[in-house]
Amino acid sequence: MEIQERLTEAEEGDHDINSFIVFDREGVSRRDVAEKGRLKDLFIGVKSNINVAGLLVSAGSKTLENYISPYDASVVEQIKNAGGLILGMLNMDEFACGSSGETSYFGVTDNPNARGHITGGSSSGSAASVAAGFVDAALGSDTGGSIRNPASHCGVVGFKPTYGVVSRYGLIDMAMSLDQIGPLARDVKTAALLLEVIAGHDPRDETSLDLESGFYRFFENLDPALGDVRLGYAHEFDELIQDKGIKRVIHKALDGFSSSGAEIVDVSLPNLEIALPTYYLNVYVEFFSATRKYDGRRYGHRIEDVCGEEVLRRILLGSYISQKEFSGRFYRKALMARSLIRRELSSALRDVDVLVGPTVPKLPHRLGTRIEDPMVMYAYDVFTVPVNLAGVPAGTVPAGEVDCIPTGLQIIGDALDDQKVLNVMAAFEQCR
Ligand code: GLN
Repeated sequence: MEIQERLTEAEEGDHDINSFIVFDREGVSRRDVAEKGRLKDLFIGVKSNINVAGLLVSAGSKTLENYISPYDASVVEQIKNAGGLILGMLNMDEFACGSSGETSYFGVTDNPNARGHITGGSSSGSAASVAAGFVDAALGSDTGGSIRNPASHCGVVGFKPTYGVVSRYGLIDMAMSLDQIGPLARDVKTAALLLEVIAGHDPRDETSLDLESGFYRFFENLDPALGDVRLGYAHEFDELIQDKGIKRVIHKALDGFSSSGAEIVDVSLPNLEIALPTYYLNVYVEFFSATRKYDGRRYGHRIEDVCGEEVLRRILLGSYISQKEFSGRFYRKALMARSLIRRELSSALRDVDVLVGPTVPKLPHRLGTRIEDPMVMYAYDVFTVPVNLAGVPAGTVPAGEVDCIPTGLQIIGDALDDQKVLNVMAAFEQCR
């Protein structure tokens, strides 16, 4: 299909979904795109916290409502070099703070596969635009689940790489020790292809890993054969899944794996429950420091003057916890708890290839439901945040539906086992 035609179709379809903040009708992002390449003819959407030269990079906030980016993030440069066509900038929770896609200054996003329900967040537009078929793939960012959570609710594939595998240069920080860019797509193959294009060492990102080139061939090496793979399942997952239907879908997935020849091994994550408070303490402190540059002098408005409730909560709590007298009490403890979670995950992964389990503990709520207690919102992330705290890779692949609402299986690997995770995702996609 012609670009203009596809754009018009997406623009019209998006009136009801609101997955895009801006469509690149003028084609500013497509002016310097390679004629040939591995992403040739693929339409791609970019989460609004990743810089694309010439487009509005708002991070879903009024703070940056007028910020037209002067440069491309490294991942965007790679997409353009590979011939990918960027259709526009996608909706998201404000500054990536959210689990529902409802905190954007540009309005909420509806779930194309479960209309009237949240898409999940914070990469709400990324998951929704893929689910609706407006784009072939999208970039999201994942600090505590923001790729996997909306992928699960919207019934698409999402992958968060090992920390450092994809450059963060040009990503607006939320909590930089946890943030990672990754792909969302309708199938594992397309996600692996986009990942292969955007991954690699980047001297402009100090935390970027420099691995041998064979490591980054995720698409080329994609192998959906399960062989004698060992999959770990933590019994704590069952205790924390709140929805019976989700539990049923996940156990059915485990049965499917067993009958395809995989071995399911019981493992334990005794401290799974402390991952959420640990995560939020880390995030408050890092987010507070990341937002100090929005003082109204350099970029747009002063953040505290215009931001929404959740962003303000994090700034205020982050500022409080960062004060000397409190940081020992809270932040240092959170760092210790983070090491504990990292060790626990890696010990659970010692005797198995990957862990399999749920992505989210409950079904997405209806749009417009007023959630007074932030803990109720935070609870969506109980299974996704440990992965970011440990810096390991994890992906979500559609596993089934509960009351006509999609839910995804999460596959978690040890650091640098990205390929293993993708292979198990591909195998599940085939045997389901
Ligand atoms: N929902 C989590 C939060 O609000 C995760 C966000 C993210 O991954 N960007 O912090």
